[in-house]
Amino acid sequence: MQTMPHPDTWLKVLPAGLFCEPGGFFIDPVVPVERAVITHAHADHARPGHDAVLASAETLAIMRVRMGDDRAGRVQQALPPGEVLTQGEVRLWLQPAGHVLGSCQVAMEWRGSRAVVSGDYKRRPDPTCQPFIPVPCDVFVTEATFGLPVFRHPEPEEEVAKLLDSVRLFPERTHVVGCYALGKCQRLIALIREAGWDRPIHLHGALMGVCRAYETLGVPLGDLRPATAAAKADLVGAIVLAPPSAIADRWARRLADPVTCLASGWMRVRQRARVKGVELPLVISDHADWDELCQTLQDVDAPEVWVTHGREEALIRAAEMQGRRGRALRLLGYGDEEEESLPGELPAEPASAPAAEETGTA
Ligand SMILES: [Zn+2]
Ligand SMILES: [Zn+2]
Repeated sequence: MQTMPHPDTWLKVLPAGLFCEPGGFFIDPVVPVERAVITHAHADHARPGHDAVLASAETLAIMRVRMGDDRAGRVQQALPPGEVLTQGEVRLWLQPAGHVLGSCQVAMEWRGSRAVVSGDYKRRPDPTCQPFIPVPCDVFVTEATFGLPVFRHPEPEEEVAKLLDSVRLFPERTHVVGCYALGKCQRLIALIREAGWDRPIHLHGALMGVCRAYETLGVPLGDLRPATAAAKADLVGAIVLAPPSAIADRWARRLADPVTCLASGWMRVRQRARVKGVELPLVISDHADWDELCQTLQDVDAPEVWVTHGREEALIRAAEMQGRRGRALRLLGYGDEEEESLPGELPAEPASAPAAEETGTA
C-alpha cells in the first residue's frame, strides 16, 4: 500500500512562484517560465512572456486584449472549467473562483493527494462571472487580501443604491467613480444596470478595451460611451467610470463639478477614503471578506491551509481554531494588483490609452 505524499513534497514555493513539480508547471509565476497555469488576468497573476500558458478561454482572451497576442503566451491552451487534463504525472483541472470573468482555481492531484490553489476569489454573487465552486482538498492555498475580522463587505447593491441616490440628489454634477479596469468596472456597470439605470455610462479611455472584451465574451453592459468624446454639458448628471488614478487627476477637471467616488474593498477603511479625497466611498470588493474566507476554509475542509498573500496571520489563527494547520507562504509579487492599490498609486494613463497599456500597476 502506498502512502499519500504530502503536498509540500510536490507543490513547491520557488522564487518564480508555486511550482507543481510532477506536472512541470508554475501557477501564476511572477517571471516568464516555460509552462504556466494562470488563475486570472489581473496583472499580478498573469505576467507576459511565458512560453506555454494554460487558463480558461476567458482569461486567455482578456490577457490577449491587455498585453497583446504575442505576449500572452507563445502556446495558449484553453481548459474549460471542470475538464480534467493530465499534465506530466498530475491530474489538473480548473474551477470557477468568482473573482473576475474567467477567474479559476487550480485543482491538482498527484498519487492520491489533492491541492487546490484559489487564486483571488470571492463568494458573493457577481453578474459578470461564474460563482466560486468549493473543491474539497488536502491542502487549500488561499489568498487573504482582506484577512482581518474588521473586513466585512456590505452588500454591493446597497453601495450602488448610495451612488444612484447621490446622482438623484445632485443632478447638476457629474459622478466620477474610480474602479479598476478588469472586473470591478464591469461588475459595477452590471450592478448599476440591475438597479435600473438604462442611460449611457461614460468611460475613461483606459476602461473601454476590457469592457468590449467582456461583451464579446457574452457579458452585456448596455450603452457605453467614451467620456473624452462627450461635451461637458452632456456629462451633467452622468455617471463616468475611470481608473482610480484618474479621478483626482487633471483628467477629471473636464467634468461638471464632479462628485469623486471610489469602488474598492479598502473603502471600508474610512481614513483611506479621506486621505485620497474621495467624497463618496463605495465598499465594493472582488475579494473574499473575513467571513467568506473563514466559510471557504470550512467548505473545502482541507486539513492544511497555505496563505499566499495578504493578511495571513489572522486567517492562519482562524484555520487553527477550525482544527487545521496553517502556513504562510509569503509569496512575493502578488497583492500589488489593481484592487489592492489606491488613487495616486497607479500610473496615470492618457485618456486615449489602448487597452494594452493598462497592465502597469504600482
Ligand atoms: Zn485579482
Ligand atoms: Zn491578486
